[in-house]
Amino acid sequence: MHLKNPVDRLKAAVRDVADFPKPGVGFKDITPALADGQLFHDCIAWLAGRHKAGSVDAVAGIDARGFILAGAVAHRLGVGFVPIRKKGKLPWKTECVSYELEYGTAEIEIHRDALQKGRNVLVVDDVLATGGTALAACKLVERIGGNVVGVDFLMGLSFLHGLQKLVSYNTYVLAEY
Ligand code: AMP
Repeated sequence: MHLKNPVDRLKAAVRDVADFPKPGVGFKDITPALADGQLFHDCIAWLAGRHKAGSVDAVAGIDARGFILAGAVAHRLGVGFVPIRKKGKLPWKTECVSYELEYGTAEIEIHRDALQKGRNVLVVDDVLATGGTALAACKLVERIGGNVVGVDFLMGLSFLHGLQKLVSYNTYVLAEY
């Protein structure tokens, strides 16, 4: 079945929320897109469909909205899912990377034994903003021996130039703003 690019329907469904979670931020609320079963299905099928069978061994998702998408993409590709979580949430031995936020720093973690060495990993998140979170996620995957074969986003805020941080990776953004 040939799937039509769902970008127009996605953009129509996503809700812009001004000044959330703080003044000056235009938040992209994906919950209406997730609630539309056909649209959710088509976005996942589109993201997963870009990857050839066998080219991805695992999908890593970023806490928390990234989990919704990455888990579904992993299921569609028939591969495992690896959670990358905010510090202090994972129960086993972890690797940790800290990165700069607009104000202060953040830390995310991955289980040390989440991947076998040399596994091809697709990183998936909902929104690419400055790119700091996704870059930190890629570093975590690499630190435990994974090979990042792609970094895919449902949406990207191009005015924040996040792709510049990810130039050494194979990136894809479904809906550019
Ligand atoms: P960044 O590290 O700046 O690329 O921020 C990316 C992370 O923050 C992603 O995990 C997003 O879920 C979240 N995020 C950043 N900006 C927005 C936004 N305007 N709307 C929704 N989520 C955002």
